[in-house]
Amino acid sequence: MAGIYLHIPFCKKACTYCDFHFSTSLRTKPEVLAAMHTELEQRAAELSGAHVDTIYFGGGTPSQLTDAELKALLDQAHRLFAVTPDAEVTLEVNPDDVSAERLKGWKAIGITRLSIGVQSFREERLRFMGRAHDARQSRESLRLIAAAGFASWTMDLIYGLPGMTMAEWDEQLTTALGFGPPHISAYCLTVEDRTALDHQVRKGLVSMPGDADQAAQFDRLIDRLEAAGYAQYEISNFARSGHHSRHNSSYWDGVPYLGIGPSAHSFDGTRRRWNVAHNIRYAHGVARGERYWEEETLTPAQRVNEALLTGLRTTAGVDLARLPLDLEKSASSVIERYRSQGLLDLRGARLVLTRAGRAFADRIASDLFLTE
Ligand code: SF4
Repeated sequence: MAGIYLHIPFCKKACTYCDFHFSTSLRTKPEVLAAMHTELEQRAAELSGAHVDTIYFGGGTPSQLTDAELKALLDQAHRLFAVTPDAEVTLEVNPDDVSAERLKGWKAIGITRLSIGVQSFREERLRFMGRAHDARQSRESLRLIAAAGFASWTMDLIYGLPGMTMAEWDEQLTTALGFGPPHISAYCLTVEDRTALDHQVRKGLVSMPGDADQAAQFDRLIDRLEAAGYAQYEISNFARSGHHSRHNSSYWDGVPYLGIGPSAHSFDGTRRRWNVAHNIRYAHGVARGERYWEEETLTPAQRVNEALLTGLRTTAGVDLARLPLDLEKSASSVIERYRSQGLLDLRGARLVLTRAGRAFADRIASDLFLTE
């Protein structure tokens, strides 16, 4: 099995916290899309013989493309790859792009799953984050999506916002659950380098909440969603039965994927590759046959560290038997320390975070890292 990720690098507005690659101008769209068609063609051999069972339009804001542009990319993928008939085809959309007509169009071209960037139902929060939509569009888009009959859909929410109280977070979750989403992703606001939010924090214009507040909201998230029938299968992801994201699960399970478009990452089991995060350099590189990517072959220790970073975030944990090195032996003292603190568990051959440990996933993973 394999997956294809298509990065659509265009957004209406720059959100203050975002460090993904995107442009707020559509000027380069024709060249970028043409290059993505060519890149699919040039790299088809990399997945030869593999069944592609997930295709994911991410970004950026893929709903900035017309239905015809999305369909052309999908047609190209179907022409070049062995896409399974029941493939999961996800489209990330923003609330301000959702209408009954667009939903019909997305369904008609073969999108099976929508991922909608709601983030908040409060006007002042959406403005603070610099989102392009308003609170009315958050609700209206969900009402339309819930009635549109897609095989699955998910919404993104953000917690850990400056000054967010537990009452506000509870109200957000209650509103979200009211739309009956099959899947919810909830992310804690983080300050990424060189974003507008980073600048605001450095200048003292915004003060971020402390770790304890964010951890308490994370805890409440798990309680509320588990009580409502969702299983947490990854730190930020919760699904009703049968609705986990197959595409994201393949990243965590080490399944090969091909990343197409500027800034897109690929992984084939041992080699990691990333395209240049610049629309014109990407488009020219593809068109002129010049190198537009970098790559590295992972050493056994790097493969272990990669598996820790992604696998520990999942409730299934890391399968030690599948690692190229004996982590249990090499990191025995760290494993023991976290086990005695009740943060880590060894279940058969799987290393799994306890519920208390999930709040410290990245720190625990990096403490377990192997060096060459
Ligand atoms: S819409 Fe998404 S990708 Fe675009 S700026 Fe906002 S968070 Fe970033």
